[in-house]
Amino acid sequence: MAAEEYDLVVRGGTLVTAGGSGPGDLGVADGRIVQLGGPMRGRRELDASGAYVLPGAVDTHVHLQATAPGPGDEPGFVDDFASGSRAALAGGVTTLGNMTFPADEAQSVEEAVARDLAAAGACSAVDYVLHPGLLRADDASLAAIPALAAQGHMSIKLFMMSLDEEADPSRLVAAVKRAGDAGMLTLVHCEDGALTRFVAEDLTASGRDALTHYPASRPDFTEAASVERAVAVCRATGAPVCLVHLSSGAALDAARRARAGGLPVYVETRPLYLHLTAEAHAASDGARFVGMPPLRQANDSRALWNGLADGSVDTVATDHAPWFLRDKLSPGHRLTAPRAGVAELETMVPMLYDAGVRTGRLSLERLVAVTATAPARLHGLYPRKGTLAPGADADLLVLDPDEERVIDGAAMESRAGYSVHDGRRVLGWPRFTVSRGEVVYADRTVTARPGRGRWLRRTRTGTPT
Ligand SMILES: [Zn+2]
Repeated sequence: MAAEEYDLVVRGGTLVTAGGSGPGDLGVADGRIVQLGGPMRGRRELDASGAYVLPGAVDTHVHLQATAPGPGDEPGFVDDFASGSRAALAGGVTTLGNMTFPADEAQSVEEAVARDLAAAGACSAVDYVLHPGLLRADDASLAAIPALAAQGHMSIKLFMMSLDEEADPSRLVAAVKRAGDAGMLTLVHCEDGALTRFVAEDLTASGRDALTHYPASRPDFTEAASVERAVAVCRATGAPVCLVHLSSGAALDAARRARAGGLPVYVETRPLYLHLTAEAHAASDGARFVGMPPLRQANDSRALWNGLADGSVDTVATDHAPWFLRDKLSPGHRLTAPRAGVAELETMVPMLYDAGVRTGRLSLERLVAVTATAPARLHGLYPRKGTLAPGADADLLVLDPDEERVIDGAAMESRAGYSVHDGRRVLGWPRFTVSRGEVVYADRTVTARPGRGRWLRRTRTGTPT
């Protein structure tokens, strides 16, 4: 049989999916995967010898801005769709899910969605979905949910912590139910607002208001209590919920019990809680590590690693939401007004490989499952995204397990200029990133054109276009 000639062939690597791995070449035509293994020729070929060929990561939790703050603006998240999507490609991430919130109380969720669709359409170098975020569960926000589903959105985002105290609690239940009825997944930030506020104010009143006390200000039981409530909302409504950035063993236990009972409760964690622990906050520059929830104890980290391995944690997402270091370390950053969020897009997959696969805590297949296949399934993108199969988009990460780098945030694509992992030696980095058949990262350089990314939305038939 004569070898087919394709647009691109990825040659000599080990192909890895969530289901298994083995040596083989991969052929791409018209932006899609067309052949796995067997003879093939390419008009262009990538050398994947000694490397793993993985589906590009699907990071369904980032906070990219339509417009990054300029000089004189209030400090905020510093990556826009241009810099953030470049950071994604440098880290082997080929699909993003962006949290799209109104800028203030005056802006509607529909206006926020229009703002981000315009900005991402102009600037994003990777494919994306938006998660419309509700600041309140008022009449207008509730009414918007079916319309957002009809527009093609597959999820909404809610904060248990604000909605549960400032609004009639039945509103939160109604929002989750309405999203479920519209076929949408509800993403929930679980921390109990009343409890965290009480604990932080109590610490402040006793003079312990420095950010070194940040972990104590949002203890794990405030997260677990909120998870129990989200689970109860899921039980009452039957609507699926995803617990984003889960941080503690206590919260994971609550989620595990719900799943054992058959409830559609899904669990995401983020790199912070896998690689760092609460002692980091005690350093003089400990404010740089502030995320929400805070860093936890070593046993929490162990519980999350075990959860990734045994399947009780479904996905790892970055929650990429960086600030400039000067704003993290400034006096404007206080215990009662935390500037939460860090840069992780360029380090998530390499660090999962280094600290997970190389140490034996995570199989290669689970690495693919938690970074690509499970998030694609959960967000209605599978099998177009998240796997290596004929017909799937040719979104690929060619990971060189022998390449060693020392993390240096100042040299990365994110505008943050620092990484919480600065100075860490990590083995296993992207050699190439491919998005819909286009080689968009090679020789440590992002070559993607801004605006080439596509919005992935659900069509009438229920499959993403
Ligand atoms: Zn977030």
